[in-house]
Amino acid sequence: MSIITSYDFSEDQNSHFLRQILLFLATHKMLPTPINYALSYEHVSGSNQKLSAAIDSLLKQHKIIDKEISIKLYNKFISDNSLESFNKINQDLEQLINNTRNIVSETGQKASDAGIVFEEQAATVTSIKTSNGLQEVISEIANEATGLATISRSLKEELDSANQEMDLLRKELIKVRESASTDALTGLLNRGAFDKALDDMIDQASGSESCLVMLDLDHFKLVNDTHGHLIGDSVLKYTGNLLKKHAEPHHFSARYGGEELAVVMPNTSLKRSAEIAEKIRVALEHSRLKKKNSSESIGKITVSIGISRLNTSDTAEDLIMRADNALYQAKETGRNKVVLE
Ligand code: GH3
Ligand code: MG
Ligand code: MG
Repeated sequence: MSIITSYDFSEDQNSHFLRQILLFLATHKMLPTPINYALSYEHVSGSNQKLSAAIDSLLKQHKIIDKEISIKLYNKFISDNSLESFNKINQDLEQLINNTRNIVSETGQKASDAGIVFEEQAATVTSIKTSNGLQEVISEIANEATGLATISRSLKEELDSANQEMDLLRKELIKVRESASTDALTGLLNRGAFDKALDDMIDQASGSESCLVMLDLDHFKLVNDTHGHLIGDSVLKYTGNLLKKHAEPHHFSARYGGEELAVVMPNTSLKRSAEIAEKIRVALEHSRLKKKNSSESIGKITVSIGISRLNTSDTAEDLIMRADNALYQAKETGRNKVVLE
């Protein structure tokens, strides 16, 4: 299943947009890359207001939309949007299946009840002893009832098997939805799901403390350079598992990007979040990681951690920025430590 935004414009409109796109790219000295085409298409066609607002604000500040900014804009305003609408469709479909399943289930039960009634009646009717002529009519009715009972039983069987198929379909859908929000390497939530968990935490904040923990592996480039990218991947995966192990069940552990991980901690005090972060830090520091086939040691792997606490007026960006600043402090003051904002 692909996640593609659908645009609903006529050919005429699209060729008009194309001229505008070329003009837009040239005016703002943007390279003619596929990402820039996508950005300018959504912008000039007015189909993505949040993106347009972001572009307008950048241009107002005379910022050049270079490759890095383009990718950021694309991830934030185009690909996440598609993920969101994909998740919505997925949820609607699951709801539809659930409803249909209930109806099928009820109908199946009714069919089965009817079968029993028909069988009982057939039994009663055959037990009545009367003169020959009437007996024939009665046996016809009895046969009819038995036939109906058979039909209703096979209907029930069909409905049961339809029900089983729908159960499978529902499970498939849940799997697809999970994989759309999971990072393939670490099994943690991916960036899109992280953003959503953070937004939800901010929307649902109610008096009690909530925190964001950001983690960045120390000198990870050196790990890759020394042992190779595959070992680097295993270290990331291992660290991801430490997050899952030490975070609480209501926390959201995610891969923020590259070798940066994060834990969104709703209803958790700064003190408690620092305890958990410290446990993760110590566990990694004390892990004796070895290469699988040679038992050669990978050496000490450490992580720096920054924590911010949610304030009432915070946006997601504010919270991330403060956790990032704390993380930067941890790096600047020697790494392998937890710093609170
Ligand atoms: P610092 O302590 O300052 O964080 O140093 P660092 O080397 O970890 O930081 P830097 O940002 O210079 O390098 C990050 C490295 O992480 C570079 C990049 O190749 C590596 N990296 C990012 N994502 C992955 C990944 O998925 N797998 C592997 N193996 N490496 C990754
Ligand atoms: Mg980093
Ligand atoms: Mg790093």
